[in-house]
Amino acid sequence: MTPASGRSPDVPLIDLAAQRRHLGERIDSAVAAVLDHGHFILGPEVSLLEEKLAAATGAKHVVSCASGTDALLLALMALDIGRGDAVFVPAFTFPAPAEVVALLGATPVFVDVDESHALMDPASLEATIANLDGVTPRAVIAVDLYGHPADYEAIGALARAHDMTLIADAAQSFGAAWQGRRTGTLADITTTSFYPAKPLGCYGDGGAIFTDNDDLDATMRSLRVHGQETDRGFTGIGINGRLDTMQAAILLEKLAVFDDEHKTRQRVATRYGERLANVVAVPDTLADHTHAWACYTIRSPKRDAIKASLYEAGIAHAVYYRAALNREPVYAAYPTAPAGLPVAEQLAGTVLSLPIHPYLDEATQDLIIDRVMGAAA
Ligand SMILES: *Cc1c(COP(=O)(O)O)cnc(C)c1O
Repeated sequence: MTPASGRSPDVPLIDLAAQRRHLGERIDSAVAAVLDHGHFILGPEVSLLEEKLAAATGAKHVVSCASGTDALLLALMALDIGRGDAVFVPAFTFPAPAEVVALLGATPVFVDVDESHALMDPASLEATIANLDGVTPRAVIAVDLYGHPADYEAIGALARAHDMTLIADAAQSFGAAWQGRRTGTLADITTTSFYPAKPLGCYGDGGAIFTDNDDLDATMRSLRVHGQETDRGFTGIGINGRLDTMQAAILLEKLAVFDDEHKTRQRVATRYGERLANVVAVPDTLADHTHAWACYTIRSPKRDAIKASLYEAGIAHAVYYRAALNREPVYAAYPTAPAGLPVAEQLAGTVLSLPIHPYLDEATQDLIIDRVMGAAA
């Protein structure tokens, strides 16, 4: 978030410049190699990245694509979701999961989230499914908000009971895990984003889809290139949804340091938790889960005072998200949980994300902690 004065904050939310310094010449050489070989579209780095992402997550197939939004779109297109179909999405999220459903003419149905993790609430999902009228339940998109995996056990059981496909929107949770299983393997289809500020980010737009299903893999791979199949011509209505070779080359370098970065992010999160737990509600990690820490999001009734204090000190911060999605006029007409979305509405007034990244030194973190404590006490 940039202060209203237009000057950029002294302490960024995510320090991509520090990461670049740490990576040194490696990115430059990787980009230069692509410039030299000239295979800018679906070059060798793209398939190598897909292999490495599959190895890193344990997913059978990985289809790289142009963004996290295209990843969601391709997943829904492969499931042939359209008019008359309902897809359940959390009400407290970045709009992409609801947007792609609406774009295909299907109906996004908003489910409430739980207060302590802001993740899709299985009880609300169950009530919302039972209350559905006039549209066919087809899929659930659970969002791993801030980097914490959703409740895939409970949501998966509900999806199976109602013959729905479970999609994990893991745009914020690459590198997380549940019971030792990595993000990418926790749902029928998992999508992620390589937007620069995500846990694994490139230097532009990018995304990927993970699945163990051979048919879905083949369909999504074809839809990514206009529905083209190598020897059969055009067999589907697709999109141009490819990941650039240049971005794949950059991601290969960043993937090589990802596990180390993840450990450092975890250390920063633990330190925040130890120092701030007495003054604000701090995010925790459920047993058997690993958090990717895309965001470090506190909750406080004094949120606006903390915001003002951070702003004054030139410390970047963000409100993810300022309203439940059904409060945005374009989404207001879609169905919601029968009991409404009280938790999503409440969270919109209390959440605040603080800087977190692998290169945040302790002195800078102390500055942030002091500001939060001063304003929240
Ligand atoms: C960032 C994000 C997306 C979209 O990813 P893009 O690569 O920007 O298209 C989708 N869902 C969630 C939850 C996100 O945070």
